[in-house]
Formats: sequence, C-alpha cells, structure tokens
Amino acid sequence: MTRTVHYAAAKDYSGPEVRRALAEILPPVLAACGGVKGKRILLKPNLLFCRRPDDPATVHPAVITAVAAALREAGAGEIVLLENPGTQTVRAVVDRMGIAETLSASGVFFDDFADYRERPLPDACVFRSLKIAREFEKFDLVADLAKAKTHAMMTLTLAVKNLFGLVDSAGRIGWHLAVGSDFERFADLLLDLYLTVRPRICIVDGIIGMEGNGPGSGTPVERNFLAASDDALALDASVAEKLGVPAGKFLLLRRAARRGLEFAFEDSGAVPPVRPFRLPDPPGILNAWGVILPPFFKTQLRNLVGSRPVLRKELCIGCGRCAEVCPPRSLKMGREKRPLFDLNHCIRCYCCQEHCPKGAIVTRPQLLTAFLSRMIKLVRR
Ligand code: SF4
Ligand code: SF4
Repeated sequence: MTRTVHYAAAKDYSGPEVRRALAEILPPVLAACGGVKGKRILLKPNLLFCRRPDDPATVHPAVITAVAAALREAGAGEIVLLENPGTQTVRAVVDRMGIAETLSASGVFFDDFADYRERPLPDACVFRSLKIAREFEKFDLVADLAKAKTHAMMTLTLAVKNLFGLVDSAGRIGWHLAVGSDFERFADLLLDLYLTVRPRICIVDGIIGMEGNGPGSGTPVERNFLAASDDALALDASVAEKLGVPAGKFLLLRRAARRGLEFAFEDSGAVPPVRPFRLPDPPGILNAWGVILPPFFKTQLRNLVGSRPVLRKELCIGCGRCAEVCPPRSLKMGREKRPLFDLNHCIRCYCCQEHCPKGAIVTRPQLLTAFLSRMIKLVRR
C-alpha cells in the first residue's frame, strides 16, 4: 500500500510559520487515522537532551507546542507528552525549552516514561519480547515527532528511530552494546518497535536538521521543511531520500525490504529538493557512543552492561530445547545435559528463555546495568 507523505515549507521556527506549515500537512494525516476527536494521544517527541532552548538535538519547542495545539483544536481528548531523555528528565528539558507553561496551559500533561515491562511482540517481529515502556498501550494514537538528524550507527535518525526512546536508559545502553557489532540487528530492533507501537501521526522536523556528527553533536543545517504521514516507515523512506540517503543506502530500509515490510510512498505538497546531509563516518569502527573501540572491548562492555540469560539449574530437565532454538548457537548442551552459555557470542534474543518448557532460564541485569540505572536516576533527580 502506497502511503502519502505530506510536505510543507517553513523558513524558520516563528509561531505563525510553524502553524501555517502544520495546517498544510497535519489534517490529511489526522483524516487518514480516523480523526482525533475525543481520542487519547501520546505525544512522543525526540527530546534527546536540551542544552539550549533551540538545541538542534531535539525537535524544536515551537513544533512541539504547535502540534499539541493543533491536536487540541482538532478535538483530541487527553494529550500526554512522554519521553525518556538520555540524561535529563522531561521536566528539565521542557523547562529549558521554555514550553512548560505553554504545554500546561494547553492541558498537555508531560512526564517521563516509567512503566517498563517485558512485552511479547507481534508475530512479524524478529525479537520475541522486549522490555519497553508500556504506557503507549493506554492511548488511542501515538504521535511520533522526530528530528531530521544523522546517526553514527543508523546513518539517519527519523521517525522509526525515535521509537527507541521507549526503551529505558540502561536498556538502551545494553541494546547498543548487544548489537553494536551487528547493525542489522539494531535495525531489526527498531523495525520491531515500529511494528509494535505503530505510531499513526508521524512528523519530521526538518526546518533545521543536524548533519555530520549526529545525533547529539552534529552541525545544525537548514532544510526548511516539515513532513508528515500516517506511517513512520514510509515517512522515513521519503525524508531520507530528500536528505541524500536513498533506500538502498539506508540500512533500516534495506532490512525492512528484506523482511517484506512495505514503505512505498508518494509525496505531496511543497516537496523539498534533494539536498544531501553531510553524513557521519561510516559505522564499523565507531561504537554506539561514537568512541573508537576494538571489537574485543565492545564484547566485554556488552557482557558488563547487557542483561544475560541465566540458568536456574534446579528447574532444568535437560531437554535441550534452548540449544535447538538459539539462533547463533551460542548455547550448547554440556556433558551433564545442562545448557552452557557462550556470552561472547550471545545476541541477547532470549529465545532460550522463551522456549524453555520449565522456566529454567531467566534474564538478569548485570551489576553494572543496575549501577547505571541507579546513577541515571540520581543524575536526573
Ligand atoms: S543464549 Fe539465549 S539469548 Fe543468547 S543468543 Fe542463544 S537463545 Fe539468544
Ligand atoms: S529448555 Fe529449559 S529445561 Fe530444557 S535444557 Fe534448556 S534450560 Fe533446561
């Protein structure tokens, strides 16, 4: 099915300019998802962090408030802004942006994601379950507000990558490290989030994007557009093309194509010309934090930070099912018919845990993960 991606030009972030641009692209998207009258909307902007009110690492505050106001005018019921910024709270970010009062005056509640629980994923997913913020299940629609930015691992971060914010901070570090040497797995994880959360109101802020060393420390660059669609993957495919990254060169879309996911699009409105972003260095020697690390250290870090499968010996009956389903065969049956884990090659898919008939495999966070979670909470207080 071909999705429409709507574009509007916007020369800057002044209120009237952003509102006019949104008035061009938002109504058809809201119509495509059956309208918002009386519906509960989860607003999920990319709020990586905020060093100054118009920090290009985040969706611009003028876009966030204008989207909230437009949804309210369209008759939305409850609107809640939830996010999990890297090292700050949502409260700190919106305060720094100077929009806390505006949001409150529009009746928009804002907070951090907090309800992280393991959730089974739909059949089309590669991963079977994922520990993510479950709040999205309580809303009728998810509005995905992304920034057009470069990204060291994924080349670009747009609407699909924005959903990675539903993974908790310590888990994000763990996932980055767990898939740090296998970017296809990371793309699969993002696609699984897309299939699970299914945001229907998707907007990319490309008025000022970020090129070069994104997603946190790149160079602001004017592209002067807002784009919107009712499908995040089609929106990403269209916007990536305008930023000089065609589908064949965008790992996320290559994986999507291989998995049979559709992202055909047709553009509408003030379609911007193709003006390529200056892209980050090719991934491979850069790890997820932008630090050059040899593979050995990356593996050790993954083993220190990521959760790991652990055997509860007293429950194991030695049936070998776990070894049969382990995709990289990093789990083998030992001499005493007990599973042996090779954590250096374990990809943390937790298939063994899911398929064990006796519940003899559990996942345990590493001590460092627990320590990091604690530190993150302290820092964000
Ligand atoms: S040991 Fe378990 S979690 Fe690790 S790769 Fe094998 S099945 Fe997945
Ligand atoms: S599937 Fe469970 S019970 Fe069977 S060998 Fe593996 S851990 Fe033991």
